[in-house]
Amino acid sequence: MTPPEIRGWRPTRFDDFVGTRNRRVIDRLRRNLLVNRRLPSPLLFTGPFGYGKTSLARLFLLGLNCSHPDKLTGDPCMTCPQCRGFVPANNRTGHPYLRVEVDCTQARRPQIIRLCREFRLDANAAIFLDELHRLHENHAQEPLLKFLEDFPGILIAAVMADRYAELIPPLRERFETVRLEPPTAADVVAFLAEKCAGEWRIHAEDRTLQTLVQRTGISFRTCLKILAAAAERDPRQLDGELLDDMLGGPSASGSGSGHEGDEAGEVEDDELFLE
Ligand SMILES: [Zn+2]
Repeated sequence: MTPPEIRGWRPTRFDDFVGTRNRRVIDRLRRNLLVNRRLPSPLLFTGPFGYGKTSLARLFLLGLNCSHPDKLTGDPCMTCPQCRGFVPANNRTGHPYLRVEVDCTQARRPQIIRLCREFRLDANAAIFLDELHRLHENHAQEPLLKFLEDFPGILIAAVMADRYAELIPPLRERFETVRLEPPTAADVVAFLAEKCAGEWRIHAEDRTLQTLVQRTGISFRTCLKILAAAAERDPRQLDGELLDDMLGGPSASGSGSGHEGDEAGEVEDDELFLE
């Protein structure tokens, strides 16, 4: 994989989601996908910032429409027209499900009302409401209450775990809630080790990966950024020197870098992994 591909990496398989408990809940849902070509609906994914709620919802919706999903894993093929067409610019396209993605940071009550009218009886609509908690203006959540009682299609919503309380209680109660947990440092190290040894082709000792994960505060996004820099080197290698260069701190060669504070600030802003 090229450095930009590593930097912008997003999960394309259900096994890309780490954490034992997360795997268990994902397995249950993908059995539905494999056996019934269907998902429980409405579904609500909650989880910490930056750990894949949006990517997971999209992957499930891709799996529903993919022409050649993997028969064992349910993974979408990522190459058929249905898979390749799944970008927000192609909103309201797809077959057998018409995929509709709504970014609730942008939506207002009138748009939600229109959506509810348009799809109330549409069994072939698969709607994804991202960042549902952001729908707090002027009773914008209320129209969804009746809609969810009637809607025969598939609806998935995502909210950040610590914003769950911003959903009005009758709306919360209508969903089947799937809680995604932040992976442990060990989960992330194991995952990165597998990727580095595999398609990312980066030489990285386990111990160096442990330091990477620890020093980034288990920030997956920052790990990807540093591994992309490692892939720019020749040979493609992650070592302590690169970690010091990118994260600041003591350098083995004695050349102190003084930009730890800057980088820490940037990390916060850039923490958008998988969203
Ligand atoms: Zn496909």
